[in-house]
Amino acid sequence: MDSSKNKDCSNTGGQKSIPDTTEEDNPELCPGFKDVDAFVKHGLGAVLSATKASAGLPQVGDEFDFYRSFPGFQEFCESQGDKLLLCMSQIMQHHGCRSHLRDRSKLTGLEERFDLVVDSNDVILERVGMLLDEADGVNRTQQPVMPAGFQPPKVVVSSWNRKGSSSSSRSETFKLLHAKNVPRPQLKFKEKVDNCNTPFVPKIFIKPNAIKPLPSYFSNKKIRKERPEDLDVPAALADFIHQQRTQEHVDDMFAHPYQYEIDHLTVTDSLLSKPEPQMYKALAETKLSYIDTLDELVSLNEKLCKLHEFGVDLEHHSYRSFLGITCLMQISTREEDFIIDTLELRSEMYILNESFSDSAIVKVFHGADSDIEWLQRDFGIYVVNLFDTHQASRALNLARHSLDHLLKHYCNVDSDKRYQLADWRIRPLTEEMIHYARSDTHYLLYVFDLMRAQLLDFHHGQPGLLQSVWNKSKDISLKKYVKPIYTEDSYLELQRKQKKSYNTQQLTAFRLLFAWRDKLARQEDESTGYVLPTHMMNKISEELPKEPQGIIACCNPVPPLVRQQVNELHLLVQQAREMPLLKAEIVAQKIKGLTPVKKPEVTLFGPHDTSRVSESDVPPFLSGEMPVKQGILFSEETTVAVDKLTSLKAKPKITIFEEVVSKKAEDSLSGSQMKARRIIESFDNPFRMYLPSDVHVNKNAKFDPNSKIFEISKRWKLQSIEHQQKEMEAKKKAKEEERKVTEERKKAKKSYQESLQDVATVREQAAESGKAVGKKRERVPSDVGESTPKVIKKAKPPQTEAPSANSFTPFDYSQSQLKVFAGGAKSKDDSQFDPYRQGHGSKKKFAKGPKSNPGAGNRSMSYMPGRSNRGFRHNWPKR
Ligand code: AMP
Ligand code: MN
Ligand code: ZN
Repeated sequence: MDSSKNKDCSNTGGQKSIPDTTEEDNPELCPGFKDVDAFVKHGLGAVLSATKASAGLPQVGDEFDFYRSFPGFQEFCESQGDKLLLCMSQIMQHHGCRSHLRDRSKLTGLEERFDLVVDSNDVILERVGMLLDEADGVNRTQQPVMPAGFQPPKVVVSSWNRKGSSSSSRSETFKLLHAKNVPRPQLKFKEKVDNCNTPFVPKIFIKPNAIKPLPSYFSNKKIRKERPEDLDVPAALADFIHQQRTQEHVDDMFAHPYQYEIDHLTVTDSLLSKPEPQMYKALAETKLSYIDTLDELVSLNEKLCKLHEFGVDLEHHSYRSFLGITCLMQISTREEDFIIDTLELRSEMYILNESFSDSAIVKVFHGADSDIEWLQRDFGIYVVNLFDTHQASRALNLARHSLDHLLKHYCNVDSDKRYQLADWRIRPLTEEMIHYARSDTHYLLYVFDLMRAQLLDFHHGQPGLLQSVWNKSKDISLKKYVKPIYTEDSYLELQRKQKKSYNTQQLTAFRLLFAWRDKLARQEDESTGYVLPTHMMNKISEELPKEPQGIIACCNPVPPLVRQQVNELHLLVQQAREMPLLKAEIVAQKIKGLTPVKKPEVTLFGPHDTSRVSESDVPPFLSGEMPVKQGILFSEETTVAVDKLTSLKAKPKITIFEEVVSKKAEDSLSGSQMKARRIIESFDNPFRMYLPSDVHVNKNAKFDPNSKIFEISKRWKLQSIEHQQKEMEAKKKAKEEERKVTEERKKAKKSYQESLQDVATVREQAAESGKAVGKKRERVPSDVGESTPKVIKKAKPPQTEAPSANSFTPFDYSQSQLKVFAGGAKSKDDSQFDPYRQGHGSKKKFAKGPKSNPGAGNRSMSYMPGRSNRGFRHNWPKR
């Protein structure tokens, strides 16, 4: 054993972690090395030597026992072992990982220590990935803050990240957006958030300004809250009654509570005639009130009820919540600005319905589409008599329709939209945030005046265009909030948007991951983008990693819930991998990459992990499968053609570093980006020495599966060649058996089959794939030999597969409940509303016009038409 080499390696690793090397602008970073490249080269060389040395250790078993009988050897091993453990501990500590590798008393066994190493490797690799991304221009450090990959449009996100705020320092800006330390407002909500997979039912329970009374379902608390189990009747009867009642109210439950009022709203002449624009007050001279108590809210409402118009806007947060949370409401009158803390007053906000549903008061919004939904969802507030300046902007055909453009255009105000994506849950609000929020409504009424005038001028005083804006606004106020409902096909909708063609296994993975993240997001009240961003879900589906670490490697940064549940995810991916591929897919894959069938996978592997090698090395057992020339790595051939090797060499690599950069893009890279690229390339595979390239190729090629590396890898509990071969052999046998059975069955059913159209389809498919493969088809001998298109749609993989796969997994997955998702299983709670069952029916019913309501007797619960002068405080029923 070359101990000096080992020491060399340990020093390198101990002093400087690999990620640090990306900080090129600090020459002191790698003392004794002229640049990062030299340092990296040296580092890789040292790692190589160390690995070689470890491969040279006596093998476990007789050989080792024999040497160990010499006290000198024993002593040497112990001291070197301690040194290595110290070195590893130091590296782990350096990265802030748990490390008591040396503390033998605290650890029961190798297994636990192994876990420590695996965890640390994950942490370190993740950090490397992040730093390389950063060096490459992808600034990840600020990304988790934003709903990146979750909320389009990305441009806004990045522009926010890039723009330096003049008023606040960089760190302040970061802090402002940093969502990590913000307490979850949900915890304070009096009424818990309802994320269940059931359609949204309006929150309204009292209807001010009603022309048509509120259906009894909403106004009668008893009906709403009564549960079948509360009834003093036998259970079966209770269920029946409950069902009947629900059925009876289903129309009302999903109707827009103010549909009738909005439908019958007529724009008054004064609102259709040219106004005298009323200039806004200067911000500095305008009173600003921060409303966060019920009393303040009530008096605000009373104030609003006396007005003819006011401007409204909302700020919203959607990253750390499943449905989203309205965090702030801004209201501006001609005289005053108000900022309402809707996190604090969430359960009381409905009070404002008196002014918001008053048809005599115009509510001016800019781009109200989302606001209308958020108001319903969080507060049960409905808007009657809306004017949307965004719609006006469209009608006027302005250059751009954003609020900042309108403010510039009409008020010559430079607004700063950067705070739009701030984390609005933050309390207390910063001054900048308050300023931003306030200016979102402050100018709105003046803009409303100007736009109305302009809309009339546009049509030479004819109200047509203005009327159309009122109508468009009406349509928006009629929007109904629709809760995201998970169905068995939801994933397809998203998958189609990805514009990626997935094979059966990949699509299965996508489906399972989609179900997993939906369930978890609802459960934890997080956005799906927080649980697992779609681009990571895509990556995992594409790669189908074999190991849990591979899943981690697909994610950068690793979402906390992914890390927490990586074993469940691993199980899902495994399940997907067990799906049989369609023949066409097998063929397509071969044409694409000349790769084995089970190819797409994360190839993150340790230096002692020979599983990669064995994967391509193991002879094909799946029918029709024939990988690239087998056995090259371990063949006895000493002269291996270079081109063969390069094709192999390209395959195994760590995909965490895979950053698709087109050739063209590469040309336009800056100096530092090029440097980052080079570093990335040098990290393409730090374990390149294990691949058939350069000097190591031939040496490694001579190694057989019984080599020392193999032995070590077994000790490290990584998948060995032998095991995989056994597994494959078992698979082969099972396949063969299955094939026989299928063929027998086929013979028996042949006459039937031929009369079925299916056969034609299958045959066409076979013929087509034959065409498609062309010359390459000869690479697939089993294809040629096949006379019948068989097992194309095999339902299940051979049963022998599962146990063999499991024998590698130290975790007990049998306890996992995730199988629930396997077939998009029905909700176990049958009493729950089934969105699919009732969805269409109720939708159809919405379309019906207002129907005569039998429950007119409930009028007393509703407000009569006309303005209410009653003291508000006393008339609102307590919730
Ligand atoms: P605004 O209407 O500009 O006041 O925006 C209201 C809320 O919508 C903000 O608080 C954000 O939560 C959200 N929002 C607005 N624009 C975007 C965007 N481009 N991307 C993501 N969220 C947005
Ligand atoms: Mn808005
Ligand atoms: Zn806003």
